[in-house]
Amino acid sequence: MTSQPETVPVPTSSERDRYAELVDLVRKYRAAYYNDDAPLVADAEFDTLYRELEAFEALHPELVSNDSPTQEVGGEVSAAFAAVDHLSRMYSLEDVFSLDELDVWVRRAQASVEKQDGVAPKWLTELKIDGLAVNLLYRDGVLVRAATRGDGTTGEDITHNVATIKDIPQRLHGSGFPAEVEIRGEVFIASVDFAALNERMVAAGKAPFANPRNSAAGSLRQKDPAETAKRPLSMYVHGIGAREGLTTASQSETYALLKSWGLPTSPYYRVLDTYDDVLAFIGHYGEHRHDLIHEIDGIVVKVDDFATQRALGNTSRVPRWAVAYKYPPEEVNTKLLDIRVQVGRTGRVTPFGIMEPVKVAGSTVERATLHNQDVVKAKGVLIGDVVVLRKAGDVIPEIVGPVVALREGREAELREFVMPTVCPSCGTPLAPSKDGDVDIRCPNAKSCPIQLTERVAHLAGRGAFDIEALGYEAAAALTVGPGPDPADNGGVIAPAGPGPLRNEADVFTIADSDLSEVVVWREIRVKGAGTGRFQPVPYFYTKATAKTPSKPTATTNKLFTEIEKAKSQPLWRVLVALSIRHVGPTASRALATAFGSMDGIRAATEEQLADVDGVGPIIARALVEWFETDWHVEIVDRWAAAGVRMADDVDESTPRTLEGLTIVVTGTLPNFSRDEAKEAIISRGGKAAGSVSKNTSYVVAGENAGTKLDKAASLGLAVLDEEGFVRLLETGPEPADAPETVPAADMDAPA
Ligand code: NAD
Repeated sequence: MTSQPETVPVPTSSERDRYAELVDLVRKYRAAYYNDDAPLVADAEFDTLYRELEAFEALHPELVSNDSPTQEVGGEVSAAFAAVDHLSRMYSLEDVFSLDELDVWVRRAQASVEKQDGVAPKWLTELKIDGLAVNLLYRDGVLVRAATRGDGTTGEDITHNVATIKDIPQRLHGSGFPAEVEIRGEVFIASVDFAALNERMVAAGKAPFANPRNSAAGSLRQKDPAETAKRPLSMYVHGIGAREGLTTASQSETYALLKSWGLPTSPYYRVLDTYDDVLAFIGHYGEHRHDLIHEIDGIVVKVDDFATQRALGNTSRVPRWAVAYKYPPEEVNTKLLDIRVQVGRTGRVTPFGIMEPVKVAGSTVERATLHNQDVVKAKGVLIGDVVVLRKAGDVIPEIVGPVVALREGREAELREFVMPTVCPSCGTPLAPSKDGDVDIRCPNAKSCPIQLTERVAHLAGRGAFDIEALGYEAAAALTVGPGPDPADNGGVIAPAGPGPLRNEADVFTIADSDLSEVVVWREIRVKGAGTGRFQPVPYFYTKATAKTPSKPTATTNKLFTEIEKAKSQPLWRVLVALSIRHVGPTASRALATAFGSMDGIRAATEEQLADVDGVGPIIARALVEWFETDWHVEIVDRWAAAGVRMADDVDESTPRTLEGLTIVVTGTLPNFSRDEAKEAIISRGGKAAGSVSKNTSYVVAGENAGTKLDKAASLGLAVLDEEGFVRLLETGPEPADAPETVPAADMDAPA
């Protein structure tokens, strides 16, 4: 009987069971991922299981068998392809998931390099492309074979498929090639092509790919090369295997040589001297990972020098001279519990998914918009599906698609989303949009409770009248009042209607006495029974509610002060507040500048409106139609009667210094908020644009200016700091640094 070291307890039978379960799960998930190109779980979940397996084996090395998944490079050879042996083994990479772990790895590698030759290593840092590895065998400069990684020793012969990738030369350019060399690289699909490919897949009745990696793998591993040829595949080189007659001394020197032979090398790699530089590289691409043409899931750090690589060697699975630092996951799997619809302020009915709450890219997500019924169809999701949810940085969470393989055996739980035919808020039959777009709308704009709530919350928003005390909850309480006790309504806080605001026309005439009845439901904690009980609570402190035992949420004082102040907002904000379709801040500013008053806009013909720069025929039509409706006109008239300013004072003293210039402001300026900077530009006749293009005259960059600044540099545009911006506002462009004026007719002509 073998005895266990004293410090390591013998695993219990339940620990052994868990180990067996982990081995099975990792095998199953790898098979789905590598062989079917259709993962069953998100990478982050797979990585967690894999690490649990590694941790167990580290504690109980006596249980590790040679066929444990931790001893193998994941992936097999499918029977659909001929098996080919690589001349030299293909490895995976050791992953680290935090900078602390990277630190440990780097110190260890550094120490062992220095022990061998006393010289600090140079680090070749490159992006970890989310694609799949290929091995290209060139003999005397001619591509003779291409294979997938497979299990690292044997891969799948995909020579004919690779021949369709135009980045990969069949014959190397130049001369002096080695007799034999294996070139390793990553095949990927560019991010923009991924979305288009998935749309085509769904249109053809096939399941969409969960991510660009799977789409690249699925596209390359087609049985019919003609099918691969239709897919937008690219490749970047990231290593070499067997070599005969190749004399380069480092990875970076080799890349330069491969590039001269016409092989695609990544523009992003760097050779760095210090670990601090490596950290800066990681930090930079952590911020800019979505500005690249392909997806990445981390950074690969390699020892550049070949002799040192050889000295460090490999384990059975990974090289000891390279490591992959993984960024936090942006994709997770979760269950789609339901698809419901919400009604917006212009009556648009939008489906959205409700999911089991899940943490992704730093926040917990449980809802994601699905835009319209066509999008639901295109994504191919069913209610009850396990779905891939993606949240890239600050971007709004998106349901990418279903995990189709997990439907098996659960068919009875799944159902298709059906767009409702009546409004969930007011019961009015829904109607298709008049514009012929895919949107479905509730036509009961005047009295649909939810539309009214949305409009009131919008008019009080920061981009319109800016009445902070009238947030969404207050808007709902004022327009529809509280619904039934949520305790009797499955915990759902439902609106009931109608509240004291019958229409947004009432906003500026609401009185203190209207507010004492406004209540909202609040969850209360009952001793011994916890939460789950609700009680109606007055929303506002008024003279009457101040005496009630429960604490109201907001004071009427603040509300009335802000309403008073809102009456003198500029005309463009009043226009935004009216919720006229298509009329956002840009069009409103253009209208206010062109006509100066609400009366002027009302009196203008459709043609006159359409002629305004920044308005155009669609907005002009929407404005004319809006003013044709009596209750709309009544809103404007009642606001005006209550003292809302309906015309802008023309300030003749502001010089029109920026006439004809387009200016983009990015980052934080010390003395201007974003809105103030915009106002300053527009009031001087300039155009405040949101994105940088070749038509931009100036970019004003404050602190933490991001990609817009990079773009400005790449286009060679004039960039100003705040001081330069103030000078520009005061005096306009100085003749010496004035940007060249592009004649309007040439602006969009191809270069
Ligand atoms: P890996 O993807 O972590 O790293 C090795 C691979 O990285 C190489 O083979 C190469 O193809 C690629 N690579 C990309 N850029 C590179 C570069 N610049 N230099 C060198 N190599 C580069 O390892 P792996 O063993 O292929 O797979 C593990 C990964 O696959 C993990 O991210 C894991 O989450 C995922 N996976 C997921 C599932 C799932 O069910 N979701 C199952 C298995 C594996």
